[in-house]
Amino acid sequence: MPSDVHVIDHPLITHKLTLMRTKDTSTTQFRALVQEVSMLLAYEVTRDFTLSSRSIETPLEPMEASVLDGKKIVFISILRAGNGILDGMLRIIPSARVGHIGLYRDPKTLVAVEYYFKMPANMEIRDAVVIDPMLATGNSAVAAVERVKQTNPRSIKFVCLLAAPEGIETFHKHHPDVPVYTTAVDRQLNEKGYILPGLGDAGDRIYGTR
Ligand code: URA
Repeated sequence: MPSDVHVIDHPLITHKLTLMRTKDTSTTQFRALVQEVSMLLAYEVTRDFTLSSRSIETPLEPMEASVLDGKKIVFISILRAGNGILDGMLRIIPSARVGHIGLYRDPKTLVAVEYYFKMPANMEIRDAVVIDPMLATGNSAVAAVERVKQTNPRSIKFVCLLAAPEGIETFHKHHPDVPVYTTAVDRQLNEKGYILPGLGDAGDRIYGTR
């Protein structure tokens, strides 16, 4: 496993992941769980982000206090399933900026095709966090990060809920400089590019479209 894969397997996350994997979990519960896990992942992903100093007054005296500049963080959602993670992360960092990338998987080749791309201005002053629930073949993640790199953000990380070994290998081959954060690395992909044992189609389960 490449060294820059962070498996965030805190018991709270692993418990919620099990609930998400369970096929009888309802859309309402699944969506809430994605948000909760995403909030916990945001905590880990921002661990090394820099703080700046601000003069404030406590009820007792003035002090120089540390703050995170949320506006310098840009969450980049790979549509549509990335929006489930986005909702959770924005609850923790409401001032973050948001970018969107629309990609669909060609069902025959499994190659990612771009149909939408919108980023905030001045990406060079921002830390980019690219989000997509499933790092499966890795093709969408590779294509999305490639496009984001063209905007020259200050840093880039990739966050997913679940990863397959094949996806990690492909992603690492193209972007060895981009750390991956996930809650688990599953066994393998099936012939349709789904993660096993996995949790099914993340978009369908978040939006109830199956
Ligand atoms: N996308 C999903 O939603 N689920 C998978 O298992 C693989 C890709």
